[in-house]
Amino acid sequence: MSISDHGRRRFIGQSGAAASTLLLAACGQNASAPASVDSSAQQQTFRWKMATTWPRDLPGAGTGAQRLADTIRAMSNGRLDISLYGAGELVPAFEVFDSASSGTVEMGHGAAYYWKGKAPASQFYGSVPFGMNALENNAWLYYGGGLELWNEVYAPFGLQAFPAGNTGVQMGGWYNREIHSLADLQGLKIRMPGLGGEVMRRAGATVQNIPGAEIFTALSTGTIDATEWIGPWNDLAFGLYQAARYYYYPGWQEPGSILECIVNQAAFDALPNDLQQIVRIACQAVNMDVHCEYTARNQQALDTLVNQHGTQLRQFPDEVLARLKTISQSVLQEIAEGDPMSRRVYDSYFSFLSQVRQWTAKSEQVFLQIR
Ligand code: CA
Repeated sequence: MSISDHGRRRFIGQSGAAASTLLLAACGQNASAPASVDSSAQQQTFRWKMATTWPRDLPGAGTGAQRLADTIRAMSNGRLDISLYGAGELVPAFEVFDSASSGTVEMGHGAAYYWKGKAPASQFYGSVPFGMNALENNAWLYYGGGLELWNEVYAPFGLQAFPAGNTGVQMGGWYNREIHSLADLQGLKIRMPGLGGEVMRRAGATVQNIPGAEIFTALSTGTIDATEWIGPWNDLAFGLYQAARYYYYPGWQEPGSILECIVNQAAFDALPNDLQQIVRIACQAVNMDVHCEYTARNQQALDTLVNQHGTQLRQFPDEVLARLKTISQSVLQEIAEGDPMSRRVYDSYFSFLSQVRQWTAKSEQVFLQIR
């Protein structure tokens, strides 16, 4: 039984519509025909709260969450009405997961790697250094078993996950001195969260995890020598070009970061079938939409950074990238060894990557080289 079937049957039981179901069955009709059995549910308005880990209007992530709420309201003709709360407005950013799990809010929007302390396997659903890009990652989620596994990871918490945005390949970050070799990473004070930060630490850097709102001050006062954030669109808005001159690429640490929508399972089950499908399809639409907007706006912002603010673009040296890649592989293997669920996700992720990369090499990769 699919989750949507389950939800519909639960609702039938709760609404006292079982009699009409029996009647339909007696008449030889499909007892689960939504038009009949969901008639009362289809008149009901559901009011949900969505808590996000982002500031309300953060370009891409915050605006994407708002777009998701707006899309669901429009598609459902107001029958599923979701109020968005930015980080700290209802619950602090890092309590979004627990709030959706307990049902304090019905929906959350954030990034899965924030929840590594609760479920280590969630780190494969945020960003994997040197891992899949957005297109490959979505292929794994929708057609490679990745999303089913993600829901297994979240099931013990009473949550369902939906991909709901992607940044695409991020930038490597802002540096106030040039990186010529591995030696330049030694003692470098850098802000980098997540797995990328752990990789940098093992490469010799001094890694700090500083909230987004404090990055600019930390970099401009010399508390840190370097920072990564997202990409030109977001980094321009943060004014990071005023605090460091060199802007490095590629964002090996976040090659296609997934933004997630999490939904309280009981709240989802209580929705009639069509609203469940609207949530599903709206997440899928916003997942693509956010990635498209990042792609469109990043180059516009990069032009502004280089042409108006004198930002110096630099590519990481091959030697540095090769070392960071080797370290990344061992960091990821250690997560897989930590618990059985992480092992299953790791195996699924890398078996899909080993296959899809061959197609990418013959399609996107070779095409982009000759275009
Ligand atoms: Ca980042």
